[in-house]
Amino acid sequence: MSSHEHPLGISFEFFPPNTDAGRDKLIHVRDELAARKPRFFSVTYGAGGSTQARTREVVRAVSESGITTAPHLSCIGSEKAQLRDLLAQYREEGVESLVALRGDMPSGMGSIGELRYANELVEFIRTETGDHFDIAVAAYPESHPQAPNLDKDVENFARKMKAGANMAITQYFFTADAYFNFVDKARALGVKQPIIPGIMPITNYTKLARFSDACGAEIPRWIRKQLESYGDDSEAIAAFGTDVVSRLCQRLLDGGAPGLHFYTLNQAAPVLKIVDNLAG
Ligand code: FAD
Repeated sequence: MSSHEHPLGISFEFFPPNTDAGRDKLIHVRDELAARKPRFFSVTYGAGGSTQARTREVVRAVSESGITTAPHLSCIGSEKAQLRDLLAQYREEGVESLVALRGDMPSGMGSIGELRYANELVEFIRTETGDHFDIAVAAYPESHPQAPNLDKDVENFARKMKAGANMAITQYFFTADAYFNFVDKARALGVKQPIIPGIMPITNYTKLARFSDACGAEIPRWIRKQLESYGDDSEAIAAFGTDVVSRLCQRLLDGGAPGLHFYTLNQAAPVLKIVDNLAG
């Protein structure tokens, strides 16, 4: 860890904004978060219809902060030639880290492409570019929605780690034991690389509930009930959310989590409140 890095090993994720105003705002958010000396930033791809070109554009803008910036990259629906070109472009642009994903097929779209799963993408990146890129992959402490069960999903997870990933970032979750259980299962299969918990701040109950249903993250009943009771009171939701998620983060760190990766949703304040609550 560099001496300039935040002692907790934090990192922040952004999505490519759709509007000029969104892009301007992201530059401010980037600067506020860069001041906390994260290990890296990452920029999603595909979510909300963003294209790889938009991700590249935002990676360029975000990396001007001097912080390592990792584009997310998915293989579903792509041919090897396209992925090869993209990797070459990222290399030329000085990108050294990637988040490698299978991704999801937009409904009604045709061909799956040449690589079916993330382990095949990791293998492809290693074959094409050797050790040039640091590669992170996704992990699902509460199981990927399409997996038949958690054990099968952890086996598939171990496969992509063995294909050459340097670390993993998890889907968000609100139950610390789900993370510890997942890490134990992965370690039992020989996975040695860091598995960083992905952390979602709670700011908007309706959006969080919709998101969580889609990606298979569970909002425990006691949290759901409390959030529902606040109705439209966004201040109360934010205060409760900060408290719940700060305590989750502290438990994860105390239990040995090797860092925290925050899903910022392009907002600085909610994650900074959490970071400031944590013991360094
Ligand atoms: P995989 O690891 O390939 O797993 C997908 C499913 O297939 C799982 O059920 C797994 O058990 C199974 N599986 C895996 N390998 C095999 C195999 N070899 N044989 C049989 N079954 C197998 N989505 C986006 O669109 N853009 C993003 O930027 C983005 N960023 C993300 C970042 C993180 C940290 C996380 C956790 C998720 C992100 N996602 C993103 C969501 C992700 O694309 C979806 O969850 C997708 O459905 C799975 O991608 P994966 O890389 O985890 O797939």
